[in-house]
Amino acid sequence: MQNSFIVNFRSIFDSSSEFIGLLNTEGVLLEANKTSLEFINAEAKDVLGKYFWQTPWWNHLENAQRKLKQAVKKAAQGEFVHLETEHRDKNGKIKTIEFSLKPIFNTEGHVELIIPEGRDITDRKRIDELKKEFLSLAAHELKTPITTLKLISQAHIAKYKKYGSDQIKLEELELIDYELERLTQLINDILDDTRVESGKLFLKFEEISLNKLLSSVVRKMNIIAKKQRIKLQKFPDEILVFADQQRIEQVLVNLLSNALKYSNNHTKIEVGAKLDKGKVLVWVSDQGLGIPKSQQQKIFNRFYQVEEKKSRGFGLGLYITKQILKLHKGKIWVKSREGEGSTFYFKLPFRKSNF
Ligand code: ADP
Repeated sequence: MQNSFIVNFRSIFDSSSEFIGLLNTEGVLLEANKTSLEFINAEAKDVLGKYFWQTPWWNHLENAQRKLKQAVKKAAQGEFVHLETEHRDKNGKIKTIEFSLKPIFNTEGHVELIIPEGRDITDRKRIDELKKEFLSLAAHELKTPITTLKLISQAHIAKYKKYGSDQIKLEELELIDYELERLTQLINDILDDTRVESGKLFLKFEEISLNKLLSSVVRKMNIIAKKQRIKLQKFPDEILVFADQQRIEQVLVNLLSNALKYSNNHTKIEVGAKLDKGKVLVWVSDQGLGIPKSQQQKIFNRFYQVEEKKSRGFGLGLYITKQILKLHKGKIWVKSREGEGSTFYFKLPFRKSNF
């Protein structure tokens, strides 16, 4: 009975497509299944009894060995450890492995054994890379015709405003223009997201006047706002920041677009700035839908949208905003009450001011 259990257990252990083994708390390899042995073309006797990091899965990569040693130490203290590592298979090909170390506790609560587990995710990673490349390429390709269409629609609008009398046609053209602007925004969000993900969102720092930037953004956004009014709380003295002008403008546009999107007509939207503990504090407040407390942290996550209020966006705007501010050594947060409105705050290091 006991024997047949062991035989059955061994066949399950060996037939798994994952790499599985068993370590003691010192990191010595006690067991390794067939899949993991075949990966390096080894036999059990070649590897069992050795420190795991001195076996052929690891011993060609100094960095990986060091990481594994640290990971075993943590697992021996009771931590479930995850790593993504790269290993050479029996043909010398580099494979990406999703690897974990799971501690097994005895009845006294002490770690007795550690289970190392690995899964080959090379193909999945490659497909993810291809998807990202495709998305970025598609977004780039879409941008050119949309920019052309937008230029044409704007030229027509200008012509109609000057010479036309047909109001309906003008409204239709404005609708086309509005939808093209939205498409452009969505595409820009995808492009920025791929830049953030690949660490290629680069900034062009220069000294900029926050007063001028805020006035210009508020002026532009008020043209789009139509039935809402954005008010800029004037601050008398000039505040200079060392920042990427276009990216800070993008942050303000994102926050103001959201304020417009998530509040009703004829409610108040305000923008202001001041110096606060050696930093510049900027805020955008609205009297809109508000955000439930439980979701106020999550809205800055990639793709996150508040369930009941899902808009036609991708849930990327605030994520990108946060990344832009992070690259400026700044930060962003929100205070909000459901049904009453939201105020988004962000802080930037400041360059100098007149006061
Ligand atoms: P998107 O607007 O494209 O959905 P964002 O990242 O800009 O993505 O915003 C994430 C979510 O946060 C939104 O879906 C919305 O639910 C919520 N949100 C953002 N700004 C506001 C706001 N001013 N008032 C209420 N909810 C907001």
